[in-house]
Amino acid sequence: MSAQHLSPQELKALVRTVPDFPQPGIQFRDITTLIGNHRGMAASVHHLAERAAAAGAEKIAGMEARGFIFGAAVAVQLGIGFVPVRKPGKLPIATIGIDYALEYGTDRLEIDPQAIAPGQNVVMVDDLIATGGTALASAELLRMAGAQVSHALFVIDLPDLGGAERLRAAGIAVSTLMEFEGD
Ligand code: AMP
Repeated sequence: MSAQHLSPQELKALVRTVPDFPQPGIQFRDITTLIGNHRGMAASVHHLAERAAAAGAEKIAGMEARGFIFGAAVAVQLGIGFVPVRKPGKLPIATIGIDYALEYGTDRLEIDPQAIAPGQNVVMVDDLIATGGTALASAELLRMAGAQVSHALFVIDLPDLGGAERLRAAGIAVSTLMEFEGD
């Protein structure tokens, strides 16, 4: 056991905000600086893993790409498997997928249909929830594969964009380590 873990408030100070990326008006909340700090990464994983354990996680699903960083580490910490929710065309097998709407256009997510045992309790992990579109589509996809999805964990919440509320309305409990105002 290392020294005491950094608190969520201390972790928030390690997130870098980059204005106008990837387009004007967006405040990009960049976790590169958080994960580049060993204590920042370790404490983020510690706090997420504690919550995933409390949710009874039997498997962790992480969304490409930044959900892989936190989700895989949480799965290792808990001694359970990890399911990557992938962008299209990346998996070398027949996949199941879901198309979902973005602000402009659509996107698609895919998983290995064998990845989840029927009724397995899968907890989703991603770096950030904004509108919740990615997480809602992921939950639907994981459920198509037989998962029970009742909890989602994020390092960062942008509450003004309503994603966490949307997930809760869909019956998924949401837990986040920190919030940033605005979008
Ligand atoms: P959404 O589907 O709207 O909840 O968007 C969530 C995904 O978009 C997350 O996986 C984030 O990595 C990314 N994202 C959206 N908005 C931001 C932002 N302001 N800063 C950093 N990443 C963002």
